[in-house]
Parts: sequence; C-alpha cells; structure tokens
Amino acid sequence: MIERYRGQRVAVATLHGKAEALAPALGPLGLMLEAVPLDTDALGTFAGDVERPGSAREVVVEKARRGMAMSGCALGIATEGSFGPDPLLGFLPRHEELLAFVDDVHGQVIVIEHFGHDTNWVSKPIAPGEDLMARLEPLLAAVGLPTHAALVKPNRWLPSAPRAETATAAETDAGAGTGTAPRATDPVPAVRMPVAKGLSTAAAVLDAVERMAAASADGLARVEADLRAHMNPTRLRVIASLGEALRDRLATPCPDCGVPGFGRIHVDAGLPCELCGTPTDLVRAEVHGCSACACRVTQPRGDGRTTADAGHCPECNP
Ligand SMILES: [Zn+2]
Ligand SMILES: [Zn+2]
Repeated sequence: MIERYRGQRVAVATLHGKAEALAPALGPLGLMLEAVPLDTDALGTFAGDVERPGSAREVVVEKARRGMAMSGCALGIATEGSFGPDPLLGFLPRHEELLAFVDDVHGQVIVIEHFGHDTNWVSKPIAPGEDLMARLEPLLAAVGLPTHAALVKPNRWLPSAPRAETATAAETDAGAGTGTAPRATDPVPAVRMPVAKGLSTAAAVLDAVERMAAASADGLARVEADLRAHMNPTRLRVIASLGEALRDRLATPCPDCGVPGFGRIHVDAGLPCELCGTPTDLVRAEVHGCSACACRVTQPRGDGRTTADAGHCPECNP
C-alpha cells in the first residue's frame, strides 16, 4: 500500500524550512517533497500584523491547496501553528500545530493535531531606556537566544495614527502605498504595524525595542518569541514528529477501500467511573476512520483502561 505514493510529488507550502523537517519521515515512503515558496502571510502572521482569516483547520488545508495549485502537484502538505497561554492553565504556554495532507489522487484530506506545552512562546511589554539590557536578559533567556529568535513590535499600535517613520523599509513592506506623496486633505491611510523579526542577538533586540517603543502609542515595545519554523528549532521538532505521525497513517490502508491513511479521527469521551459507572470526561474509545470512504472502526483505549478513577467522576467527586 505504501507503494501508492512512491515517486509522487507533494507540495509543501512554506517559506520556512518545513520540507527539510518532514523529509526524514516521509522520504522513505517514496514521496518527493517539493518546497513551494508560498508567502502565507496573507493567511495570518504570528506577530499579529495580519489576522488569520478562518479557523486553523480551514487555513491549514487552504495553505496546502495553494501550494498544490502553484506547483501543479496532486498532493500537498501544510502546517499551521497556534500559540498562547494555555486557556485552562493560564501560566503555561501552549502550542497547537496542525498538519494537513491533501490528496487529490485518492480524494482525501488528513489533518493531524499536536497539542503540547514544550514551546518558548512568550510575550511581554518592556519600556526602553535605563538598564534595558539588564531588564531584557530574563526575557531573552526565555525566548532561547541565540538558537531561537525574538521579534519586537509596538506594544500598542494605532493604524489610524501612524508613527512608523522609525521602522525600516522591510518592516513595513506591506504598508502604505509607494510613490505618490499624500496630500494634506487625504484621510490617514491604515499602516501595517512594523515588526522586527528574526532577531537572534541581544544587540539587535535592544535596538528594535528602542525603535518599536518610539512607534507605539503607549511608548512600550513588546518582545515575543519568533515562532516561524526556521527561527524556532523547538517548533521544527514538533513538525518533524507530525511528519512521523503522517507516515504511520499512510502506512495503514483502509480495510474497506484500501486507500492509505486509515487512523484515529476522533475520540469518544465517557469512560465509566470505577465505583458507580457514571460516564466521565475521560476517553472511552478511539474512532479510527478512512478519509476517502465512510469506513469507521471503534476501538477501546490504547492503554486498555476500561474504568475511570473516581476522582474524575462528577457523582463521586463533584
Ligand atoms: Zn462515580
Ligand atoms: Zn476507505
């Protein structure tokens, strides 16, 4: 079944070195990964200067399809990361990464998810001036310089009152138009927020903090981890592990139609309490399915557990 993909080209939509991270897992299947230099900034940026136009799941499939359209491949891969404080454990950073495999040969879309706390995500406002380097040091350690990069942006950006004159040309490449000088009577154009990305030295961060604070409505800069894959080896490791998960999926053919890619598509909650049998929030069963046909197989939990600890029970431990 693996032979189905031998020698097939697959477009990997990225500017950021993801194809190299995926190749060790997917190359042995015979897939020929082609990095397609697709600028996906229009589908959202981590810096927040462009918002994501849909859910992560919609956007990751759209990215894969754009890469396929650009390269003429019938197969496409893209990944989409989301970062921020964990909504339940507010103090912990959380990383969600989706990998989409779009397969127009067999008519299937496989989306594989990763959730984890192993990320250098951090976002803090900082004032320029006195002792800046000393105040920056713990932040730069959290980002993980120099193996990981930082980005700096204005803490408060008001697009209707642009103060972007302190930004370099590259930082406002999608900003206001070029060539024609604005007349005094023109409405103030919305200017894209300047963002200094890929900063891997303390000196570069220090310089950017001074400039972005000057462009900010509140006089503060915001320092964050640069989450783009080629600037973030921690994220690249997650992308590599998603490649391994996709490899395992593609090694499993559907028992009904034979298309490769059979695997877990969702989980059913409701593992019964060990004392009273009430359904809990814990996983009861895994549903494995095919993305090309309607075949579904419900399997018990992988670890063999059939009851939940009473501590998880809404009746015994409300
Ligand atoms: Zn119970
Ligand atoms: Zn099937």
